[in-house]
Amino acid sequence: MFPAAFDYQSPATLDEALGLLAERGDDAKVMAGGQSLIPLLKLRFAQPQLIVDIGRIPGMTEIKRDDGHVKIGALARHVDIERSKELAKLLPVMVEAVRWISDPLVRNRGTLVGSVCHADPSGDWGSIMLALDAELVARSAKGERVIPIDGFFEGPFTTTLRSDEIATEIRIPLPTGRAGGSYHKLERRVGDFATVAVSLQIELDGNKVKKAGIGLTSVGATNIKAKKAEQALVGHELKDDVIAESAKLAAEAAEPKDDIRGTAAYKKDVVRVFVQRGLKAALGRAQEVKA
Ligand SMILES: Cc1cc2nc3c(=O)[nH]c(=O)nc-3n(C[C@H](O)[C@H](O)[C@H](O)COP(=O)(O)OP(=O)(O)OC[C@H]3O[C@@H](n4cnc5c(N)ncnc54)[C@H](O)[C@@H]3O)c2cc1C
Repeated sequence: MFPAAFDYQSPATLDEALGLLAERGDDAKVMAGGQSLIPLLKLRFAQPQLIVDIGRIPGMTEIKRDDGHVKIGALARHVDIERSKELAKLLPVMVEAVRWISDPLVRNRGTLVGSVCHADPSGDWGSIMLALDAELVARSAKGERVIPIDGFFEGPFTTTLRSDEIATEIRIPLPTGRAGGSYHKLERRVGDFATVAVSLQIELDGNKVKKAGIGLTSVGATNIKAKKAEQALVGHELKDDVIAESAKLAAEAAEPKDDIRGTAAYKKDVVRVFVQRGLKAALGRAQEVKA
């Protein structure tokens, strides 16, 4: 199917792009890698009158460490994350997780920030960003604001981003102690969207958990932050009973539906098993980090 007709603009600067959105935001769509937007246009699920292609705007491809964070520009592609030596050192869970996203064709064009803005509950980055407590930086012609990822997803394909805003960067706080993470994804075949996936990140203080992050993919109307499951870990050593309790709470936080990929009960059980496995893997990785 062909998309409905639309105007196309490829602004050379961010200010130009923001000016276009200030004028025509309600009828416009921002395009980054186009890996989710173009299929939507072709299916005519989206019929914007204007596409604002931000792909040629300079200065938004960087992945850099700054001020206790890793900052990832809106045009950093999945493949840039896959190849980032900085991320492999600082947040290896991201490099592990990105390899689960589709195939090299999609990873060569699609962006992390685009994936988060797309807000597909089956998207992998949303859960990983929830586990890592990321923040999005959004710009409009009126100024800049920082949006915590927790609360950013309002529903399927819906976020708190306004139609005159462009997300310019995602910021991920760096762990301050020994930390480790893991990503576990069940898919029907290689490169598929998740049937269920779970993202985990823990930070240790001695043998006890100082901070924990658990994000769930494909088991609700949005990516889910399993807050009670996270809280059940903080202040505790990761012994079997603590892990089992957290895994149970994460399964309770999931709200999957029966579909051709499995029953809701099955998917909840996969969450439970993945959290158990994932926490053990994350603990092993955190313990390998030199204090
Ligand atoms: C065959 C196929 C398989 C895939 N498999 C997976 C998978 O296994 N796991 C997974 O997580 N994803 C998967 N994806 C989606 C892929 O990761 C996309 O790259 C990603 O979801 C969107 O990034 P993008 O840069 O291409 O965004 P685009 O397609 O350009 O945009 C997507 C949406 O986000 C908005 N947007 C994009 N960037 C910004 C910005 N900076 N500011 C404001 N709004 C913005 C757009 O307006 C649009 O609504 C798959 C896609 C395809 C085509």
